[in-house]
Amino acid sequence: MAEEIKLKCLRCGYEYSELYDKSEGPKERACPKCKSNSVRPLPDKQK
Ligand SMILES: [Zn+2]
Repeated sequence: MAEEIKLKCLRCGYEYSELYDKSEGPKERACPKCKSNSVRPLPDKQK
């Protein structure tokens, strides 16, 4: 089942969220803004 995770681009600082399906395993992500693949997941602080 997919869950929503938050991601941050280390290159331009853009933050966004994406649906992540664990059954698909790790996949390459690219920043929608600058197309960099230096994107890291953020811990979810909003709870
Ligand atoms: Zn970026």
